[in-house]
Amino acid sequence: MSRVYNFSAGPSTLPELVLQRAASEMLDYGGSGQSVMEMSHRSSAFQSIIDRCEALLRELMEIPEDYAVLFLQGGASTQFAMVPLNLAVHSGKADYILTGQWAKKAASEGKLLLGEENVHIAGSSAEGNFSYIPEEQSLSFSPDADYVHICLNNTIYGTLYPYIPDTGNVPLVADISSMILSQPLPVSRFGLLYAGAQKNMGPAGLTVVIGKKSLLEDARPNTPTMLRYKTHLDAGSMYNTPPCYAIYICMLVLEWLKNDIGGLKEMEKLNREKAKLLYDFLDESTLFKGTVEKDSRSLMNVPFVTGDKDLDSQFVKEAEKAGLVNLKGHRTVGGMRASIYNAMPLTGVKALIDFMKDFEAKNR
Ligand SMILES: *Cc1c(COP(=O)(O)O)cnc(C)c1O
Repeated sequence: MSRVYNFSAGPSTLPELVLQRAASEMLDYGGSGQSVMEMSHRSSAFQSIIDRCEALLRELMEIPEDYAVLFLQGGASTQFAMVPLNLAVHSGKADYILTGQWAKKAASEGKLLLGEENVHIAGSSAEGNFSYIPEEQSLSFSPDADYVHICLNNTIYGTLYPYIPDTGNVPLVADISSMILSQPLPVSRFGLLYAGAQKNMGPAGLTVVIGKKSLLEDARPNTPTMLRYKTHLDAGSMYNTPPCYAIYICMLVLEWLKNDIGGLKEMEKLNREKAKLLYDFLDESTLFKGTVEKDSRSLMNVPFVTGDKDLDSQFVKEAEKAGLVNLKGHRTVGGMRASIYNAMPLTGVKALIDFMKDFEAKNR
């Protein structure tokens, strides 16, 4: 068997130990004589999986008691609609900061549901092709907004907020799909956090929402049952059949984070080490260069270019032959992007840098 180093932005690489454990339990989970894929979501065996998944997430992220954890479906994209439907219940207005494609999509959905006139853009880096996060002093919040929405790590452009915006009494909502569990996060600074699992916590099909319970009680009139947080809060995320297998793999990833990595502080150290190696190399390289301003650099997604489109595609092709896959950049940025999520080992980043050095020497 030979495994590649997979730099995909999502779905993305999973810890090998997790895959091995899932394989060993595939036919018979914990003596139940069935796979987790086959068992009833109402069984006690599955109940203990979802309970353990939530307990581990709460422990690792230090989620306060007055916050709920929901295991949903529909991807982060469905949260673009659920957030306005459930949170815009007072003034019906919302602020959005535009720092990339996902933030823009969230804002468009807000406009669709709340009306164009009720969505205020509190900051944007669109004019710089989203290569930085706007400075905090430049943001202009509406005092009567029901929430402020941000995308904390911008997967496509490779930027991460170097600060958490202070929105006073207005709840801060963050899409953390591509940075959840990559470093400790002060959950209480946010009203609501959400993430598609397929970047840093498991397979596609699961979306995790962490929200202050008091924000999950209400919804706008005519909000469909399945799109109300309250429905899932009251039903322990089992109003309907949850994505059982994805939740199980997420549980294994959380166990790996706790037992093999040693928690989020340790994870952050490792992530910083990996990112620093790659950014330091990019800063010194005579061929490759990073596309993001230094103080906004993501620890998870690292876009870079050679400045020559043909050379970029040659690089992606040759890297693939060398077992370094999915390095093609997003079509809106071009060039390359290396996603180095939690499960990408240091050896994978080193292999990439060695390959880049080699390529640089041959193509100078
Ligand atoms: C991938 C991604 C999404 C889209 O997630 P889906 O689960 O495919 O809907 C949204 N936001 C961010 C930041 C992402 O990285």
